Amino acid sequence: MKVIERVVPLIVFILAACQTTNVTVIESPSPSVTSTSTKVWTSTSTPSPEPTFTPSITPTPSLTPTETPRPSIAPTLPHADVQFIYHGDRNKPYVALTFDLCQKPELPSWFDKGIVDVLNEYEAPATFFMGGDWMRTHVDETLLLASNPNFELGNHSWSHPDLPGLRAEVITSEIVQTQNLLYKLTGRQSTLFRLPAGKYDDLTIGMIAWHGLYTIQWDVETGDPDPTIDAERMNWAVRTRVQNGSIIVMHANGRGWHTAEALPQMIEYLRGQGYTLVTVSQLLGLEPLPQH
Ligand SMILES: [Zn+2]
Repeated sequence: MKVIERVVPLIVFILAACQTTNVTVIESPSPSVTSTSTKVWTSTSTPSPEPTFTPSITPTPSLTPTETPRPSIAPTLPHADVQFIYHGDRNKPYVALTFDLCQKPELPSWFDKGIVDVLNEYEAPATFFMGGDWMRTHVDETLLLASNPNFELGNHSWSHPDLPGLRAEVITSEIVQTQNLLYKLTGRQSTLFRLPAGKYDDLTIGMIAWHGLYTIQWDVETGDPDPTIDAERMNWAVRTRVQNGSIIVMHANGRGWHTAEALPQMIEYLRGQGYTLVTVSQLLGLEPLPQH
């Protein structure tokens, strides 16, 4: 794993009271921008042709009476050095499938359960990066994902803004609000953060580390937010780009247009090539590898 350490003066200035900040950078492809084009549903589930929008402003969901209420504030994670990750160990045949659940409050998205159905059918581990506002309007779906031991849940900001240029307090709110709701709903606490559209600056990645999270980018882009990229094109992208340690980015918010359709062939190909599918934390050695 290629590791370049550098000091980020601005972050050091901000975080000086705590510790010196080192930045671990593993290659740096250009970040992509998630498409927000018009929906054409192609998942294996059976949504209506015109998906019903969940109102962007709805009452904050509460736990059902049968569940034990949890605190609204997640425990604080220890501050960490910056970990800026594009992939795992290139010498080990592990690959992580990741799915983003992006949602801006003014632009509600959906949930492609067909993806989960395929992952369950193949008993495939995966990491879902949850938007806070997405969780707010998709409580049942959040609980469904959290109930599956094969799935890891990460933080994908609250409102999916472009983080570069925002003030530290705003970045903190995007991170912490999402941590808190994930904890309140599921009892889980994420240690992974995916940048909205992969966009960052030094302050952003410094603040993510300050709150104890790793920044997780990707090295294989399927292009699934583009409705013109079909399942075969997605699988072509994976076949030509995947290697040991790869992190593959896709979308499960209904804007991964052909994702569920592409997944069976993708999983069969990867396993046929000798790769073991793991969560991002397993890929990075933060959690034990699956026994089988
Ligand atoms: Zn996103």
